[in-house]
Amino acid sequence: LISFDADLIARSAPSLLTQVLVTNRERISALTVATGLVDAGRSVILDVELAAAPSVDGAPVTEATAVSADIRLPNRQGLHARPAAVVAAAAKAFRADIRLLRGADAANAKSVTSILLLATNPSDVIRVSATGPDAAAAVSALAELLACGSGESLAAGPVPAAAAAPAIPAVPTDPRKLAGVSASPGVALGKVAQVRRTAIRVEEQGAGLERERAHLDAALARARQQISAQQAANPGAASRILDAHLELLSDPELIDLAVAGLAGGRSAGYAWREAYSSYAARLEALASALLRERAGDVRDVGGRVLGLLAGVTSAPLEFSPGSILIADELTPSETASLDAGRVLGLCTTGGGPTSHAAILARALGLPAVCGVDRAALELEDGTAVLLDGTGGTLLKNPDETEVAAARAVMGRLAAQRHSERAAASEPAATTDGHRIEIAANIGTAEEAVAAVAQGAEAVGLLRSELLFLDRDTAPDEREQAEVYRAVAAALGRGRRLVIRTLDVGGDKPLAYLPLPPEENPFLGLRGIRVSLERPDLLRSQLRAILTAAALSDVHVMFPMIATLDELRAARRILAEEQAGGASVRVGVMIEVPSAALTAEHLAREVDFFSIGTNDLTQYTLAMDRGHPRLAALADALHPAVLKLISLTVEAAHRHGKWVGVCGGMAAEPLAVPVLLGIGVDEL
Ligand code: PEP
Ligand code: MG
Repeated sequence: LISFDADLIARSAPSLLTQVLVTNRERISALTVATGLVDAGRSVILDVELAAAPSVDGAPVTEATAVSADIRLPNRQGLHARPAAVVAAAAKAFRADIRLLRGADAANAKSVTSILLLATNPSDVIRVSATGPDAAAAVSALAELLACGSGESLAAGPVPAAAAAPAIPAVPTDPRKLAGVSASPGVALGKVAQVRRTAIRVEEQGAGLERERAHLDAALARARQQISAQQAANPGAASRILDAHLELLSDPELIDLAVAGLAGGRSAGYAWREAYSSYAARLEALASALLRERAGDVRDVGGRVLGLLAGVTSAPLEFSPGSILIADELTPSETASLDAGRVLGLCTTGGGPTSHAAILARALGLPAVCGVDRAALELEDGTAVLLDGTGGTLLKNPDETEVAAARAVMGRLAAQRHSERAAASEPAATTDGHRIEIAANIGTAEEAVAAVAQGAEAVGLLRSELLFLDRDTAPDEREQAEVYRAVAAALGRGRRLVIRTLDVGGDKPLAYLPLPPEENPFLGLRGIRVSLERPDLLRSQLRAILTAAALSDVHVMFPMIATLDELRAARRILAEEQAGGASVRVGVMIEVPSAALTAEHLAREVDFFSIGTNDLTQYTLAMDRGHPRLAALADALHPAVLKLISLTVEAAHRHGKWVGVCGGMAAEPLAVPVLLGIGVDEL
C-alpha cells in the first residue's frame, strides 16, 4: 500500500539510525545491543532475554504477544462496575497477562479496580493486548466481549434520571427542611436513627509474611462465603450487585497491593486497609459520578474483609420499628440486610442516585434521599422527621398539617399499590370488557414462581439464552431439561409457557461459541441464524424443551426469523426431534421488518406470533438499540413500527392465530392502549 524510495531516503537522511522501542520493559531481563557494521538481513542488532513467567501446572511457557484492532465501546456508560466485572472474570480464564489500552493508558484486564480507574467513556476506542501462552485466544475473546458490550444489555431502555440530568439538590426555604437528591421515590414519617459503626482498629506490625498472608487469604475466602450466602438468601438486584463484590475479592491488583504491604512487614489488616482505601480514594477522584460511587463498593467489601481480619463481627444493623436511617453512607451490604419491616426510609449525606445502595432502596420499595445536607448527621436519635424520597428532602419536626398531608399521600400510594396487588390475579380486561392476556418475561424457575404469585397468566417469553450466558461451556441437554421442567412445573398445565430457543449473537456473545467477528453484529449471525449454523445446539435444546411438554402448555418460539426458509428449516429440525413424540405449539418472533411484511405467509405455518419490539424498532428505524445518542429517537411508538405491528396482527388474525408483544413496549403504560387498539392479544 505504501511505496517509497529507500535509496532516496538513504541519500537524503542525516542518519540511518533505527529507533527500537521496547514497550514491555518489565518482561525483559536483559538487552544486548550490537555495534559495528551490519549485513542487511543477517545481522542481529538486538538480543532480548525475556524474564521467565511463572509456569502454570508445570506446563512449558511460550511467550507470545497479540494485540487487537481498535474496539469502540458500545456501553452507554463506559465500563462501569458490572461490565468491568464481566471483563475481569473473562480475562481470568486465560494465562496470558492481558491489558486494556486506551492511548497511553493501560489497565490490567483481570482487575476490576484497574478497569474502573481507566475511567472509560462511551465510544472510547480500546485495544486489548496480551502476552503469554494463550495470548491470541485471549485477545480475540476479550475483543469480542468488549465489542458486544461486556455482558451488558444494550437495549435502549430509559436512561436513569440521574444519568439524564445532573442531580441538583432542591433549595429549601424552610430552615427545618434539609435538601438532598431523590434516590428512591415515596414518602415516610418516622423517627431519626443515626447509623453508628464501631471503628475497627488494627495493629500496624505483622507477625511475618507467611502468617499474615494466610490470615488475609482466609479472610478473603470467608468474605466470599458470606457474600454467596447473602446472594442465596436475597436473589435479584442485591445479588447482582454482590457479584461485583465477589469479583473485587479476587482482584489481582488489589491483592498484589495488600501483599506488597505484607512484604513490608505490615499486618494483614493494616496492609489490606491501606490497599482498598487507596483504590477507593483514586476512584473518588475520578470525574464520572458513576465511577466515583463505586468507591462505596470498594470500601464496603474492603470493610467486610477488614472486620473479618480484626475479628469484629459486623452484625446486621438493628433499629426499632419506624426508623428513618441517617448515615454518611450506607453500604450495599448494609442496605441489603436491612429489616424492611422496621426501617421506613434511608437518608445519606453521601452516595448518589446511581449508587448500589440507592438501587437496592428502590428494589426494597423504601423511600430514600442521598446527598442530603450534613446537618442531618447532627439530628438527635428519635427526632420526628418526614422523608420525601420523591422530592429529595428531609423535614425535621413536621407540624400537624404537614403530617396530615404526608399521611394523605402515603395513604393514596398504599391504596393504589394495594388495589393493584389485589387485582393482579384477576383476568385483565378493559372497562368495555375487552380481554387481554398478561404474561411475564422470565429467565428462571424462581421468576416463574414470582410471576404466578403476582398474577401472570402465562409466560410469554422464557429467555433460554440466560442459561447459556456467563459460563465456560454450553449447558447440556439434562441441565436444560431440568430448568425447563422446573419452570413448566411452576406454571402448571393451565398456563402457557413460551420457550424461546437460543437467542445469542449481536449483543449477547457466548465465550464458548466463538462467532466470527462481525462488522455489524446485529446484522450478522444472531438469533435463529446461530441455531441453524449450529444445529447440534438447537437439536439438544429442542429435545430438552420437549421433556417439559407434559408439565405445562409448552410453546416453542424461534427468534429473529427474517425469511420463510428459516422458519421451515427450524421446523424441520423440530419435527425430526419430535418424531411422533410430545407435541408443542410453534411460533416465531416478529422482530425484523421482513417478517412483519411477510407475516401473511408466516402466519400460515405457525401457531402464534410474538412481536419483539426492541429489535423491530432498531431494525425499522435503522437505529442501534444501544446507541446512547439515539436512545431518545429509537421510539417503538414511531408510526412505521406501529404500521408493522398492525400488519402482523391483521395477517395473524386472518389465519386465526394470536399475537403477543414481548418487547419492552408491552410494559409501557403509554403504549398499552395503542397496542390494544391495534388488536394485540397478549402483553
Ligand atoms: C425484542 O427484541 O423485543 C425481544 C423481546 O428480544 P430481546 O430483547 O431479547 O432481543
Ligand atoms: Mg430480540
